[in-house]
Amino acid sequence: MTPATISNLISELLDETLVMEKGNLEEDRRRAGRKSVALAFHPNACNTLAVHMNAREVQIGLANIHGTVQTLRRYEISLESGQSAFIERLISEIDACIAESEEVTIAAIGLGLVGLVHFESGTYLSKDHLGWKDVPLAALLRERLGLPVYIDNNIRTMTMGEKMFGAGRTLTDFLLIYIGPGIGSGLVIGDRLYRGGSTGAGEFGHMTYNPDGPICHCGNRGCLERYTSLTAIASELDALDEEELLNRVRQSDRQAHEAVSRAGRRIGTVLASYLNMFHVPKVMVAGPLAEEGSPLLEEIRRELYDRSYLARRERVEVAASELGENIGLIGAAALAQWNEVFEHRRLG
Ligand SMILES: [Zn+2]
Repeated sequence: MTPATISNLISELLDETLVMEKGNLEEDRRRAGRKSVALAFHPNACNTLAVHMNAREVQIGLANIHGTVQTLRRYEISLESGQSAFIERLISEIDACIAESEEVTIAAIGLGLVGLVHFESGTYLSKDHLGWKDVPLAALLRERLGLPVYIDNNIRTMTMGEKMFGAGRTLTDFLLIYIGPGIGSGLVIGDRLYRGGSTGAGEFGHMTYNPDGPICHCGNRGCLERYTSLTAIASELDALDEEELLNRVRQSDRQAHEAVSRAGRRIGTVLASYLNMFHVPKVMVAGPLAEEGSPLLEEIRRELYDRSYLARRERVEVAASELGENIGLIGAAALAQWNEVFEHRRLG
């Protein structure tokens, strides 16, 4: 690019207040033309409000252009209170967060939601345990909050978080698997998140592990999730809850270690079939059990390389996500930033 082209591009970014001048640069030697000027991202550029919803709670945070999030709120979802009470509470909590953040300009709101979401129309399709059906959530929030709103499934938003702010930045194709109370995944192909049809794609947890296994809430039998989610592992161990399971794993309890290893082998079995079909160079694993050195990752790798000749021949890397426990909020922020700032998308 010529210096003139660069100047033109920079002045566009200055006009859009994405960058700002930080004064003249000291120069060792005299040069002709305009003095060199240091630039920085404008502190008000691309701030987004991120909302992450899992099966139990809602988290709300403020994120900057680098995907650094500050958690502002978290509250438990009351399953009894119904759909309109949930939405009213959500609006009032988001409203309060916007009021608290008055010194920054919020470009958009991104929401990562548990269950089926149609991203294009902004519709929350269903969440079985909430008993909802086809709620035009994005339009509703946009109207009440007066800001652009984007919604998607929470594991797909985490995958966008990996693409924008995690190890996925340098990868064209990768898979993210999240292991929590349920199991989900997101797939990036050709630098873009693959969304599939209107109900989405990436229901890794509902791939069949055992054809004759127990009935799953999705209608299938023997889904992987029934054997390997945190809930499933905890119940195998007669642990009180997932917190007790995680404590026992941290304390290197032998039975807990074995149960997590078993879950890793089961995930690796299904992953091998998946990767024979969709060979990607890297699989990132996220969730409380996904740490480097954990039996979960070791067993996933072992099983994968035993079973998939493609994964063996052209090594598929399996690694823990580096986004940490804020992955949900980082993902929701990525959804908003990607669509509002980079794609200039305006959903109807
Ligand atoms: Zn299922």
